[in-house]
Amino acid sequence: MIQDFISDEKIQSILDKAKNPSPKRVEEIIGKAHELKGLTPEETAVLLQTEDKELIEKIKHAARTIKEAIYGNRLVLFAPLYIANYCSNNCLYCGFRRDNKELERVALSMEQIENEVRVLEREGHKRLLMLCGENPKRSSLDYFIEAIERAYAVKTEPSGEIRRINVEIAPLQVEEFKRLKEAKIGTYVLFQETYHHGTYTVMHPSGPKKDYLWRLTAMDRAMEAGISDVGIGALFGLYDYKFEVLGLLLHALHLEATFGVGSHTISVPRLEPALNAPAAIKPPMPVSDKDFKKLVAIIRLAVPYTGMILSTRETAAMRNEVFGLGISQISAGSRTNPGGYQDDSSDNFRAGQFNLGDTRTTEEVIYDITKQGYIPSFCTAC
Ligand code: SF4
Repeated sequence: MIQDFISDEKIQSILDKAKNPSPKRVEEIIGKAHELKGLTPEETAVLLQTEDKELIEKIKHAARTIKEAIYGNRLVLFAPLYIANYCSNNCLYCGFRRDNKELERVALSMEQIENEVRVLEREGHKRLLMLCGENPKRSSLDYFIEAIERAYAVKTEPSGEIRRINVEIAPLQVEEFKRLKEAKIGTYVLFQETYHHGTYTVMHPSGPKKDYLWRLTAMDRAMEAGISDVGIGALFGLYDYKFEVLGLLLHALHLEATFGVGSHTISVPRLEPALNAPAAIKPPMPVSDKDFKKLVAIIRLAVPYTGMILSTRETAAMRNEVFGLGISQISAGSRTNPGGYQDDSSDNFRAGQFNLGDTRTTEEVIYDITKQGYIPSFCTAC
C-alpha cells in the first residue's frame, strides 16, 4: 500500500514559514521562475503569501510571459460528456450526490451517447472529457468502456471523428486501469477535491469516496497500469486556496519522483452553486476573483510545462482574463447534465452537476477567443 504523501502539518508549516516575505525574496523567486524550471513548494509558498499589490502584478506579468513562451497563443478546446449521474457518494458540493432526491437521474444508452457525440462533432469538437457518477450498477466500468468505444467509432460528415477521449471516473484497481488504457483513453483525470484531510472527511460523509488515501493514490495505480498521462485538480473554495496549491504541487512532485513524470494537467475548478449541495451553495472558504487570478498565475510559475485546465464554471469575463495568466485548455459549450447536448431545452440546474458560469455556445467561445488573439485548437495533431 502506498503511503500517504500529503501531510497537513508539513504544508501548514511551509506556509507559516513563508509568511510576510521580503520584496527582495519575492523578486528573486519570480526571476527564477523565468528560467522555466519550476519552483519548489517553499518558493511557491512565498509567492502565495505575497499580498503586496505591486508584487502580485509582477507575478501575473511573469505568468503571462511564461505562458506565451511555452504555449504561444494556442488554446486547446474540449467538451465534457456526462453519460450518467447516478452516484453512491454524497459529496456536499455536488448536485449528483446520493441525497439529492430532486435530481433527475439518467444513465444514457449507447445510442444516446452516440447522439451526444454527433452533436459535439458537428460543433467541431475532437477532444472529449467523458465523466459519470460513481455507481457500480448504473455506471459500471464495462458500461464506461463500451461508451468510450462507441464514442470513438462515431463519424459525422463533414466533421470527422473524436480523436481523444480523456476520462474522469472514480479511482480503480491497477487491473481496471489497464482496461482503460486498452480502450485508448487520453488523459486519466481525477481531482482530490481538497488535500486537507479534515475537510476531506467533512465533505465526503459517506460512500466509497470517503477514503482519502484510495483517491490520493489513484494516479499511482494508473501509472502502474501504464497510463502515464494523468491530470490532477482541486476544487477551490473547500479549504484555504494556498494549502490546495501546495497540495497539488506536492502531488505532482510525488508522481515525478516515483514515475519520472509528473501530472500532465492541473485543473482549477472553483465552487459553483449546485442543486441541494450545501457546500456549493455556501462555500466553506470562498476564493475571491483576485485570489483566483493570483493562484492561476502562481501555478503557472511553479509548473510551467503542466497544462492548466479551466472549465465553464467560471464566467466568460473571468475566463477571458485568466487565459493569459496560464490556462492552456478550456471546455466550451458545456452541458453537465447527461443528454444535455441533444436536449438543450432540459433544465441543466435540475439535472446537472453544477451551475454553469459560462453559458456561451462553442461558436461564441471561438469567436471571443479569436478576437483576443488566441488560436482555438481542437485537433490533436497540431
Ligand atoms: S463529486 Fe463525483 S463522487 Fe461526488 S457526488 Fe458528485 S459525481 Fe458523485
